[in-house]
Amino acid sequence: MSNIKIFCPATIANLNCGFDVMGLCLETIGDEMIFRKSPTKGIKITKITGAELPFEIDKNVAGVAALAILNNYEKDFNPVSFGIEIEIHKKIKTGSGIGSSAASAAGAVFGVNEILGKPYSKSELVHFAMKGEAIASGSEHADNVTPCLLGGFTLVRGYDPLDIIKIESPNELFAVVLHPHIEIKTSDARAVLEPMISLKNAIKQWGNLGGLIAGLYMKDYEIISRSLEDVIIEPLRKGLIPNFDKVKNSALKNGALGAGISGAGPSIFALCKGSSIAKNVAKAMENTYLKTNIPFDIHISKVNDEGVKII
Ligand code: ADP
Repeated sequence: MSNIKIFCPATIANLNCGFDVMGLCLETIGDEMIFRKSPTKGIKITKITGAELPFEIDKNVAGVAALAILNNYEKDFNPVSFGIEIEIHKKIKTGSGIGSSAASAAGAVFGVNEILGKPYSKSELVHFAMKGEAIASGSEHADNVTPCLLGGFTLVRGYDPLDIIKIESPNELFAVVLHPHIEIKTSDARAVLEPMISLKNAIKQWGNLGGLIAGLYMKDYEIISRSLEDVIIEPLRKGLIPNFDKVKNSALKNGALGAGISGAGPSIFALCKGSSIAKNVAKAMENTYLKTNIPFDIHISKVNDEGVKII
């Protein structure tokens, strides 16, 4: 293939009880990227729309991730005689908490892998995408790039060595995401965290994470709902998001299985069983936020089981 267009989905990381390890893939929000073979060797970003982002390969997560897979391919297989041009069309706002940088990193490695003739599996691509994520956040984390690549719900069981697992889940799950147009720097969202946690809270949190995974496999919405609780991060971070409690409560009152902070925020997510409950929950969250005078946008999306794909 010498010319492809792909969809790079937004993702929700953490999912309350799975800080830094759980994530899910969305269907209705995502960037688009175009990849073209070119006679000039190397990676080149030729066009960016929808956001002010650097064209320099070493400053754009897409460039860094694309180069990581290309260099590795040349080491594992053989030298490449052509170059790859990339266009990035951003639809996911940066700093929104739904994996904007991850979509570019995952999209870049997926696209380059297709152009190279698919030498790597989607799971193998996670490692290269993490190299891109590192320049956005300062660390090689996989909680957004994994669901973006694999789709569905994913768990990063460990980093050393990287161990990622796709979690089976029921097919009626919908997410609502409310994105308040305020900026929370990832550094500020990290700064409010405490380095030590109590044993009591740790027990609650890992009980919930086990519960969430069991509930997803068992397709048991009651267990999923009871497990979508965060006793460690949310109490420290929610103060950064105006009206967080009110929005969360309105989602729960209207039938959401659970609600919380998406990634490092400021987006607030709710998980719902079925599209009609999701629509009611979105309406309730929207009405609550209209009272704040803070501009926002709201999305409803089925959980996307496929992940990044050619369109
Ligand atoms: P998010 O969690 O939504 O990805 P972050 O604030 O963690 O948002 O990361 C966005 C940062 O990464 C911004 O500083 C942005 O300039 C930088 N960045 C570099 N390349 C990209 C890209 N292709 N897409 C998104 N952000 C990028």
